[in-house]
Amino acid sequence: MKVSLICSRCGRAFSAGEPIWRCRCGGFFDLVLAKPWAKQELAGSAAGMWRYRRTLPLNADENIVSFGEGATPLLRFAYNKKPVWLKLDYLFPTGSFKDRGASLLVSKMKELRVQKAVEDSSGNAGAAIAAYCARAGIQCEIYVPAQTLPAKIKQIEAVAAMVRLVPGTREETARAALAAAETSYYAGHAWNPFFLHGVKTCAFELYEQLGEAPAAVFAPVGNGTLLLGLYIGFCELRAAGLIENLPALFGVQSSACAPLAEAFAHNLTEPATIRKGDTLADGIAVAMPVRGGQILQAVRKSRGALLQVSENEIAGSLGELHRAGLYVEPTAAAAWAGYRHLCADSSLSPCVVVLTGHGLKHCGK
Ligand SMILES: *Cc1c(COP(=O)(O)O)cnc(C)c1O
Ligand SMILES: [Zn+2]
Repeated sequence: MKVSLICSRCGRAFSAGEPIWRCRCGGFFDLVLAKPWAKQELAGSAAGMWRYRRTLPLNADENIVSFGEGATPLLRFAYNKKPVWLKLDYLFPTGSFKDRGASLLVSKMKELRVQKAVEDSSGNAGAAIAAYCARAGIQCEIYVPAQTLPAKIKQIEAVAAMVRLVPGTREETARAALAAAETSYYAGHAWNPFFLHGVKTCAFELYEQLGEAPAAVFAPVGNGTLLLGLYIGFCELRAAGLIENLPALFGVQSSACAPLAEAFAHNLTEPATIRKGDTLADGIAVAMPVRGGQILQAVRKSRGALLQVSENEIAGSLGELHRAGLYVEPTAAAAWAGYRHLCADSSLSPCVVVLTGHGLKHCGK
């Protein structure tokens, strides 16, 4: 598949055959597929997310790095007597939806003959990149904030990645990783467009499982890779003529860290400047999302919204999911809390809530 990198800021195009992750002007890249895929190319016969092989920008099959991930269940559930669907994207080899992005990104890294990579994360993206790098035989170094949950640090160390604990904020961790990336490939999921194109397979699965596009999808949002992956996936389904309308995309943030929900409420085009508070939802505690402007645009184009939920609502939602047998981590419960906000006075149907991370990751805290 012919694909190029387009800079989001200056519009310059680069070959996707180069191991570059950022434009000379500092902008992040998006992917442009030279020949968008056609209706009949959506699904092949491979298992899991690689069922959508023909929509995934990778040249050679021999470079696929996979654990057979994807094809997660879509569970029919009910809230206040209304039906709602739960996408169980916490059921992945490393315990979060990040495996979708990691599988395609690390495959692309293998294709580019990358030997050494760095990534920064609040835990789950690091665990995903580390595991896929282990499978591909690529050395990797994962930067995490020093106060990351012990279970998440252990998981990264267990797959033999080097973990660097950075004191201070999540933003300082990102800066440390960027400095290290001067001498190796930067596999940052917030920046890398291949990651987003792996995540888009979530949209394809929803379409196939429901037999139509959902009317609305609720997702927790930190760096927005899930929300943007869904947006790309549904846009591609529409371009191929498989669906007519995009689902309304609802991104959910904790009110302790809601730069995008604040920006949405005040009609801004870039993330609002905020002071980050403590939150249960460690997976979305991102104060300055790199693709913030792009996320706001995607949400508006889909006629969705960015919502904020309180820490109490996240805790309440988490308990509710756990008692229903859905053992997820608190960040995943934020999306459920967002749905509970809106469902009473919404006629959108069918609604999907994506559950993003496994509860076992939160053990020991
Ligand atoms: C990373 C993560 C999110 C948020 O994804 P972003 O791409 O940062 O918006 C949500 N839930 C879990 C469990 C995560 O690990
Ligand atoms: Zn540029």
